[in-house]
Amino acid sequence: MNFFQYQDNELYAEQVPVKQIADEVGTPVYIYSYNTLMRHFKAFDAAFASLDHLVCFAVKANSNLAILKSLAQAGAGMDIVSGGELYRALAAGVNPEKIVYAGVGKTQTEMEYALKSGVLLFNVESQAELQSLNQVAGQLGVKARVALRVNPDVDPQTHPYISTGLKENKFGISINQAIQEYQAAARLENIQVVGVHKHIGSQITEVGPFVDSVGKIVDLIKQLRGMGLDIQYLNLGGGLGITYDDETPPSPENFAQAIMPLINELGGCKVILEPGRVIAGNAGILVARVMYKKTTPAKGFVIVDAGMNDLIRPSLYGAYHKIIPLHKEKRPEVEVDVVGPICETGDFLAQKRTLPEFRRGDLMAVMSAGSYGFSMSSNYNSRPRAAEVLVCDDKYYVIRQRENFETLIQGESVPGFLQ
Ligand SMILES: *Cc1c(COP(=O)(O)O)cnc(C)c1O
Repeated sequence: MNFFQYQDNELYAEQVPVKQIADEVGTPVYIYSYNTLMRHFKAFDAAFASLDHLVCFAVKANSNLAILKSLAQAGAGMDIVSGGELYRALAAGVNPEKIVYAGVGKTQTEMEYALKSGVLLFNVESQAELQSLNQVAGQLGVKARVALRVNPDVDPQTHPYISTGLKENKFGISINQAIQEYQAAARLENIQVVGVHKHIGSQITEVGPFVDSVGKIVDLIKQLRGMGLDIQYLNLGGGLGITYDDETPPSPENFAQAIMPLINELGGCKVILEPGRVIAGNAGILVARVMYKKTTPAKGFVIVDAGMNDLIRPSLYGAYHKIIPLHKEKRPEVEVDVVGPICETGDFLAQKRTLPEFRRGDLMAVMSAGSYGFSMSSNYNSRPRAAEVLVCDDKYYVIRQRENFETLIQGESVPGFLQ
């Protein structure tokens, strides 16, 4: 359920006509709906109400300060994967005691920053990282609270690039070696082992992989506790899928119901969840304007002012995003490729898509773009990145200015010998 709906054939974001924003702010533009974001967060949070739990939004899905602030005010913690994301979370006023830090390649500088900030937990992904963290914590005279990220070797049945819980993936430690790794971790002086973390992938549309992996992790926690380790946190990661096209992912309630009996076997464990996509994905759209049309003997192209630098998911994962006109009227349906201005054949938003005929100057909405949209955007082809807008009820707010040519070259310099 989201608040991007037609009223009298005009697309609205909550009570604001999307065309008004496109005309006033320009295109391409990302538009988020505050009330959709809140609705998704609250539904997810409520599904786990019967457990002692913390929902940490995966910052990499959408890292805009206003989005982070909105979620933090609603009670969310944050799941971060870099020092930059920590900086953003703190800048948005997130309580560090609600921040968990994952990632296979944390630098010692990042570790120091996170320890000084007082984050709740490090999700550690290897023995070498553990040694490194132990050293940094020792230098600061603190103890680092740690969950080891365990790779349960479960197939999430999603795109290979967003599968993380298979034994051939780079993430976590193998569940078969987990006991030894935990024993080794417990011996480190400046490490306090308090949890188990797993995250098996993204855009998962069945409960099966979640149930299988949670079952394995719960068994592991029982064993660890049997060995005398004080495991207080069970971090289930993120990964719940959304509807882009015709997927029918489990609702947060169904997801929670499916795994709750397993968690209850532990008789007391604080549960952390790290949803990203399911919170922000359908709370955002990307709006683009049709610049040209072109028909080759092979096919028809609609050339728009948003490209793969703005939304890379179609190019990177072959991802499907629904495309709809901002103004709905009777038009013939045609099969086209919707492409951007970038000098790459891989620069497309849709391929072989049957859409109502678009004409020059028309506006279109690329749906479900609130997660891994702007946050994955780049300046490729020296294109200033798009503006971001947050709509709440009948008002809209620019939450990120469109970049310009000056910001494009900011930080670059030409050395003296070239002058
Ligand atoms: C990316 C990521 C998430 C969020 O995944 P979604 O599919 O967006 O829910 C959560 N935890 C970790 C460790 C991640 O890397």
